[in-house]
Amino acid sequence: MHLLIVEDEEKLAKALKKGLETKGYAVDWLADGEKARNRILLYRNEYDLIILDLMLPGGMDGAAITENVRKEGVTTPIVILTARNETEHKIDLLNKGADDYIVKPFSFEELLARMNSVLRRPTVAQPMVLKVGPLEMDTATRVVRQGGNEVPLTLKEFALLECFMREPNKVLSREHLFDHVWDFNSLSWSNVLDVHMKNLRKKLEYETETNERSTERLFETVRGVGYRLAGEVQE
Ligand code: CA
Repeated sequence: MHLLIVEDEEKLAKALKKGLETKGYAVDWLADGEKARNRILLYRNEYDLIILDLMLPGGMDGAAITENVRKEGVTTPIVILTARNETEHKIDLLNKGADDYIVKPFSFEELLARMNSVLRRPTVAQPMVLKVGPLEMDTATRVVRQGGNEVPLTLKEFALLECFMREPNKVLSREHLFDHVWDFNSLSWSNVLDVHMKNLRKKLEYETETNERSTERLFETVRGVGYRLAGEVQE
C-alpha cells in the first residue's frame, strides 16, 4: 500500500510517516497544498490512500484539494485530518469528496482503523480476512496463514502479497506492484521487486510430499508483464 501524507506540521507528519512505515506502508510526505494537488493529479494511480491535512500553506487547503482532484476524476480514497469538530463542516468535507475525516488530536490506532475501513470500501464489502486458495490474510492483525499455518513475512513481503490478495487472478504489472509497495524516492525498482518476489515465493510455494512430489505454484510469472496470484477466492 502506497500512501501520501499532506501535512505541514513537520513533527506530526514525520511521526505518522514513521509509524505507518513500521506497519509496512510505503509513505510519501508533502507539506505544501498546491504541490500535493499536482502530485496527486500526476501520480493518481500510484497512491492507494491520501491522508490530507485541512489547514495547509500554499494557497490550497485540504478541502479545496479534495474538491479539485475529484473534479479531475481521481478516485483514490482521501482521509482528512482536521482540528475542527463542527458537524456542518464535516458534512461539507464528505460532500466535497473526502471518504472520511479524523479530528485532531487522534490516536494512531484510530487512524489505522479508519484507513482500514476506507480501504475496504472500493470493492463494496472487502472482508477483513482475504482468502485466496490456501492463503488467508488478516488485514487488521497482519497475519498470513497458509493451510492454517502462520507464515512469517517481512513488511515488504506482506505489502506485496496484499496487492495480489486484493486483486486475485489478475495479472499485476511490475510497475503496478512497485508503485504500490515502494515509496516515491525508491529508484532502482526492477531488481528490488525481483528479490522480494523471489523471497515471497520461497516462503509460500513449497513442495508437498504426496505419493509423488508436486510443487504448489501460487504465482504465475507473465513474461515481460508481471505476476498473477491464482486461486479460488472464498468469501
Ligand atoms: Ca496544518
